[in-house]
Amino acid sequence: MMVAAATCEWRGELRHDVPMAEYNSWHAGGRARRFYQPADLDDLCAFLRGLDEDEPLLWLGLGSNLLVRDGGFPGTVIYTFGALTMLEWLNERTLRAGSGVTCSKVARSTAKAGLVGVEFLAGIPGTVGGALAMNAGAFGGETWRHVQAVETVDRAGRLHTRPPADYRIGYRTVTGPADEWFVAACLELEPGDAQAAHERIRQLLAHRNTTQPTQQYSCGSVFRNPPGDHAARLIEAAGLKGAAVGGARVSEKHANFIINTGTATAADLELLINRVQGRVEQAYGVRLEPEVRISGERPTL
Ligand SMILES: Cc1cc2nc3c(=O)[nH]c(=O)nc-3n(C[C@H](O)[C@H](O)[C@H](O)COP(=O)(O)OP(=O)(O)OC[C@H]3O[C@@H](n4cnc5c(N)ncnc54)[C@H](O)[C@@H]3O)c2cc1C
Repeated sequence: MMVAAATCEWRGELRHDVPMAEYNSWHAGGRARRFYQPADLDDLCAFLRGLDEDEPLLWLGLGSNLLVRDGGFPGTVIYTFGALTMLEWLNERTLRAGSGVTCSKVARSTAKAGLVGVEFLAGIPGTVGGALAMNAGAFGGETWRHVQAVETVDRAGRLHTRPPADYRIGYRTVTGPADEWFVAACLELEPGDAQAAHERIRQLLAHRNTTQPTQQYSCGSVFRNPPGDHAARLIEAAGLKGAAVGGARVSEKHANFIINTGTATAADLELLINRVQGRVEQAYGVRLEPEVRISGERPTL
């Protein structure tokens, strides 16, 4: 159901009972009670100012690392993709990108400008906001290595500019001030060669297509790599390639990917994640920690 915004202070689009399977790369999961796509940054601030202070919030970029359980999300999803799309050069080496800009657009804009360092972002199918929240990385590159500052918004709709020192940044984890979310990042890049940067992007994408099931519904790597090892190696060694629960299946091409073969529920995916975790721990004494973020409620029976 679409709700007209005309009588409200905000101008974006608010919908109710929205199927989150349409907004994540697993194409699975429950519904969001409310779903808001702001018109722009000012509008987002106005919307947040009008919310009840205990309204549960879930921030969504492209949903390439996010699953909402089948019972749904009992609050408001804030959808930044297609909304916070600012992209501007602050000087010849610093790019300011809104949270709703895709990682691939950042990689290509940077390469085009003859700057290097974030070519790895080209193959990450998410937004700048998601990359900041996850410290997304690949092929030796990591998002936060290039962050000069981030812009955030809090529950009261106030904007903040923060240096990286305000955050604890690790491998696929970032913790910072509570109840603040990313609205933009200022990224500092190195001077380089535009043609070489485009060629590196081409090579990295080709490598992904060879090694990952990029044509199937997944969330990328399900588990973080444990120190000194690879989650995919452990999962394969435990004989779990092809293991399935309902419509969820461990990929034959890359053991750290779980595929929705078409009919997977969030429960199937979560059960398979737990089963893989349990079997690897039993066999090798290593507890794999999921990288994918799971939110929302289990269905009531
Ligand atoms: C085929 C495939 C390949 C992948 N390869 C890689 C890879 O090589 N490296 C890698 O690191 N990841 C990879 N991923 C995972 C995923 O793309 C990244 O984690 C990406 O950064 C998620 O961005 P998103 O916009 O989709 O975030 P979402 O999935 O929408 O959200 C992820 C998390 O970030 C939070 N979030 C989103 N936006 C904001 C915001 N503005 N402020 C605060 N929190 C926010 C969400 O609440 C959630 O907790 C891959 C995924 C797929 C499907």
